[in-house]
Amino acid sequence: MSQKIIAVVNQKGGVGKTTSVINLAVYIALMGRKVLIIDLDPQANATSGLGIPKDEVKFSTYDLILGNKKIHEISLKTRFKNLEVITSNGDLSGIEVEMVSKLNREYLLKNALNDSNFDYVLIDCPPSLGLLTVNALTAANFVLIPVQTEYYALEGLSQLLSTYQAIKQSTNPELSILGVVLTMYDKRTTLSSQVKEEITKYFKDIVFSVNIPRNVRLAEAPSYGKAISEHDKWSKGAKAYKNLAREVLSRLE
Ligand code: ATP
Ligand code: MG
Repeated sequence: MSQKIIAVVNQKGGVGKTTSVINLAVYIALMGRKVLIIDLDPQANATSGLGIPKDEVKFSTYDLILGNKKIHEISLKTRFKNLEVITSNGDLSGIEVEMVSKLNREYLLKNALNDSNFDYVLIDCPPSLGLLTVNALTAANFVLIPVQTEYYALEGLSQLLSTYQAIKQSTNPELSILGVVLTMYDKRTTLSSQVKEEITKYFKDIVFSVNIPRNVRLAEAPSYGKAISEHDKWSKGAKAYKNLAREVLSRLE
């Protein structure tokens, strides 16, 4: 497999999908791999988190999915060597309605990715299991699931897993789960270790050994349009994402 496509998915909002996409992508790129971020969320948080103003986005994932533009025509270079991004903007918010009437509506993103040639493609999914996320799961080789370390952590995961199974049985039999990562982990609380135990009982060894701590520096970085490696590379959050990037590469290479 040359290009590895990873969909970062959880229909629950605010669990750390976008933070994980940006920082994993940046560290994997710093480790010398060619990486593309696809911002598949109309909220465009990955786009703005990388410091790209939404109103400067001329072409977006919208054009990619509807086949108006090819990847190499609209992917933007970033400040990071080896990292490009296909940005999102508000155009994407109505796209599911337009997609419904299309032939092969589940395969639009997969088809758009046919002629791309990166080592890694990371897809930042919106917080829903709608047609955009179905497109991501159909295009991807792997799913990465960030789970917020909280009392209700497991809630919603069974719905996510049944969507995953449904995709495997229909549009993408080769799909597999790359891993589950606990985010906003607070090692001082017993709740965090209990949640890790529970998630590990459920998902076994696909749970990453690296936990992403709750870390103010991670929360601040997007407001400066920066990755954590730029905002504070010595922070706990930076170290965790760097280690997670290593763990991802060790599972895939
Ligand atoms: P959405 O479902 O809305 O797309 P998301 O799953 O992409 O959300 P993020 O946007 O990555 O989640 O994170 C939600 C909020 O929590 C953001 O304000 C982000 O900066 C903050 N955040 C993410 N991870 C951490 C962390 N480890 N520590 C502290 N704050 C975090
Ligand atoms: Mg997000």
